[in-house]
Amino acid sequence: MNIKRVEKLIRELLTELGEDADRQGLLKTPERVAKTWEFLTSGYHADPREVINGAIFESETNNMIISRDIEIYSLCEHHLLPFFGRCHVGYIAEKRVIGLSKIARIVDLYARRLQIQERLTAQIAREIMEATQAEGVGVVIECRHLCSMMRGVEKQNSVMTTSSVLGSFRDDGPARSEFLNLIARDV
Ligand code: ZN
Repeated sequence: MNIKRVEKLIRELLTELGEDADRQGLLKTPERVAKTWEFLTSGYHADPREVINGAIFESETNNMIISRDIEIYSLCEHHLLPFFGRCHVGYIAEKRVIGLSKIARIVDLYARRLQIQERLTAQIAREIMEATQAEGVGVVIECRHLCSMMRGVEKQNSVMTTSSVLGSFRDDGPARSEFLNLIARDV
């Protein structure tokens, strides 16, 4: 991303909004906004393999492993406004487990892009499946979308829930029920 060019665009946007881009409070705004956007979209340039960085461990377990309430912040690609909430990930390991902090890193990697919640959910599930070769993977994301809340087109407190299930979680069997029960405690 060309920071100087984005700064120029933000300056133009301020002017177009009817602002005086040269007034004290706005002088550094283009620079701040450009840097913020660079960070918020840094997921485009991150490589999942590098993020995981070998944190895959051999394990005899084939129990279900759950990571609940991972904070998630992303940007809606339709309005360029944030959506944010919680992500729950579960998988049944087949000899390979992934470090817990790495799951959060994978969530960030895909969240720091322009997204729709459905695709974000599916990308996280696919990445964890590929990295662990698990028997099954389930991802549930619950988010509030500022594009709905601020524009008042939907209920202020509405939460959107999306899920993506792969492998043995796809069947409506015990793995899927166990996953949904484990994440449902205070959902
Ligand atoms: Zn939106």
